[in-house]
Amino acid sequence: MKIIKGIPASSGKSAGMIFRIKNSSESGQTGNCPSSLSIDLEIKQFNDACSFVKNRLLQHVDESRIFAAHLEILEDITDRVISKIERDKVDAISAVREICNETCALFAEMEDEYLRSRSDDITDVCRQLIFELIAHNENPYATMPAHSILIADNLLVSDTVLIDKSKLAGIALRKGSKTSHVAILARDHAVPLVLGIGEAIDDIPDDAMVVIDGDKGEISIVSYESIIPSVPEQATIEKKADKAPAITKDGVEVKVYANAGSLADVEKAISLGADGIGVLRTEFIFMQATDFPDEAMQYATYIACAKACRGKILTIRTLDTGGDKPLPYAPVKKEENPVFGLRGIRFSLASPDIFKVQLRAILRASVLGNVRVMFPMITSLAEYRTASMLLEECKSELKNEGVAFDSSLRAGVMVETPASVIIADDFARHASFFSIGVNDLTQYMLVVDRNNPYAENACDSFHSAVLKSISEATASAARYGIDSSVCGEMASDLRATETLLKLGVRNLSVSPRQIPFLKEQIRKCVFYIDNNYKR
Ligand code: PEP
Ligand code: MG
Repeated sequence: MKIIKGIPASSGKSAGMIFRIKNSSESGQTGNCPSSLSIDLEIKQFNDACSFVKNRLLQHVDESRIFAAHLEILEDITDRVISKIERDKVDAISAVREICNETCALFAEMEDEYLRSRSDDITDVCRQLIFELIAHNENPYATMPAHSILIADNLLVSDTVLIDKSKLAGIALRKGSKTSHVAILARDHAVPLVLGIGEAIDDIPDDAMVVIDGDKGEISIVSYESIIPSVPEQATIEKKADKAPAITKDGVEVKVYANAGSLADVEKAISLGADGIGVLRTEFIFMQATDFPDEAMQYATYIACAKACRGKILTIRTLDTGGDKPLPYAPVKKEENPVFGLRGIRFSLASPDIFKVQLRAILRASVLGNVRVMFPMITSLAEYRTASMLLEECKSELKNEGVAFDSSLRAGVMVETPASVIIADDFARHASFFSIGVNDLTQYMLVVDRNNPYAENACDSFHSAVLKSISEATASAARYGIDSSVCGEMASDLRATETLLKLGVRNLSVSPRQIPFLKEQIRKCVFYIDNNYKR
């Protein structure tokens, strides 16, 4: 039996046939540099999208002159998009987007007002093409059989949207990292995950039967007969709900919230005994869509989440796209260093129209429950102020429209950058609460990529600089009498619980599955360093 070693990233042991994805969308559905073979495929997909859009426009051409104009634009840009794919070796979606930006920029400089306004039509035609390209992009996971162990170089969160998780017995990755969003999702769904396998992943034959051990970080290539009797299909332990408060041995209640990415997560967390939702990662909701979800769609989701919380806190984090969570339809140019780029609040402030749609939906949902809004990746007070100003603008709009909302909706910041720790007092004077995001805080504090398996040991949330940051942000919040909690994977790690409590942390936000385990762990811990309690 051959054993291949990697990094353990999500517990559990299971067996299955391997299902290998050769060209996973490592850089998202866009921005890839396809090989010469797939360039032909990109051009074919673009031509198919063009034919589809053209036929649809032709059907409407008698209704309005605008459709004829759109046909002209389509004709004008077709060759340019194809040359861009060939010359720059980019995928079709990126090529359409770049040609759209270039053309709109040209028109924007024109003196003639009519010509200047043509840029809306160009954007419209390009949007139709992108829509078609996204909708008809083949789902490479569609043929994955049940009980598969998925093998890939790396996965993005957008890949996980395409995967039928009921068929997934495990994941093995050449790259990846424990605090990547894919690893977080694997743990949330109790899918065993081994990552950072490196070149050895090529030694696994395509038709192999393997056992994946997410606790040891091992992949064993075995014979069918040897595994069937011995390995349970999904050996990950689920624990029963625990609705009692989590009180330390010295009598301090610690609130246990959940990190959620969907309505299903919220429902699961509340049924397992969560005190509320510490972070609703709304980007996962955006990833289910083919374009930015409109206000009605977002409102429907947020209000359903608020209902599911039954009066408990629901913290809705505004869109944290970028980094390893790109949105295939977002108009963002390919960035050299996306983790340092247009991520989180930076994207929202650069796209106020998109941001305001989300803020309005959150405000409308706030009427029902104990809703809070939270801004991700904040690094300056100016960012917080601008975000709050846009929130106020949305409140005035809703008020004028006679739409109900909670006028005292609390707004908080994610403390997940070194800057936000250093000026935590300034934020604490203005914001209603903090959520300390230890995943990103570790990445940015220690200058290690949270997605790089080779930096796995360096990406250490127990580093004294990270612990000191957690302690300082928690102390700032306490000084100004605002709430603070710790989210990120460290909060789910039971080895970290007592350390976090000793740093003064009284609110933790974790993966829904981990809630009963964490409550049990808290009850074994002591909160105060120096105490004379007797039990
Ligand atoms: C974090 O950074 O710790 C966090 C909770 O946010 P995310 O993992 O979604 O970046
Ligand atoms: Mg973060």
